[in-house]
Amino acid sequence: MRDSPDVTVLRLGHRPGRDERITTHVGLTARALGADRVVLAGAASSRADTVVDITDRFGGPFDVATTDEPKRRIRDFSGTVVHLTMYGESIQDVEGDIRTDHETEPLLVVVGAEKVPFEVYERADYNVGVTNQPHSEIASLAVFLDRLFEGAELDREWDDPDQVVVPMETGKKVVDPEDVEDV
Ligand code: SAM
Repeated sequence: MRDSPDVTVLRLGHRPGRDERITTHVGLTARALGADRVVLAGAASSRADTVVDITDRFGGPFDVATTDEPKRRIRDFSGTVVHLTMYGESIQDVEGDIRTDHETEPLLVVVGAEKVPFEVYERADYNVGVTNQPHSEIASLAVFLDRLFEGAELDREWDDPDQVVVPMETGKKVVDPEDVEDV
C-alpha cells in the first residue's frame, strides 16, 4: 500500500476458456486487497481490460501490466519473491519474516494456474502455503495480502472513483463521489 514498498502480483499461467474468470478475479483481488499492480502473463493478458475497467470505475491507483516473459520477470525481480503454493511453508510461520522484508523491499507475489515450473520454487525467497490443502489462487492471494497488511488494506481509500459504494445493512447504494459527504 501507499506507505510501504510496492507489492506486485504475478499471475503465472492461464488456460484460455477455463481460467478467464479466475484470472480476472486474481486481478480484482490484488487491487481490492492492497497490491499496487498485477502482471498478467501470456494468455492471461486477455483479462487486462476488465481489471483496468474496474479500476477506472471504482478508483486507483492500481496498475495492470502484461508480460510474455514471466519467468525472466521473476528471476530478475529486485526484491522479495513469494510464491503461493499448497506445498510451501505455512503462512503463519513465515508471515512475520515476509512483513519484515517488506518494510524495506518490494514484494512479488506469484500465483499459478496449473503446474508451476520448479525454477519458480527455487527462485522464490518464500514458498508459502495457505493451509497445505489444495484450493485456489484467489483464496490464497486474499489471505496472504490480508496477513501481509494485517487488515490495514480494509480501510484503504481510493483515488478518482466514478462511483462509490455506500455500505448498508440491507440494499445497494452506489453514489457519485461528490455526494459521499451528503450520504
Ligand atoms: N498444485 C498446485 C499448487 O502448487 O498449489 C495447485 C494448483 S491451484 C489450481 C492454482 C494455484 O492456486 C497454485 O499455483 C497456487 O498459487 C494456488 N494455491 C492453491 N492452493 C494453495 C494453497 N493451499 N496455498 C497457497 N496457494 C495455493
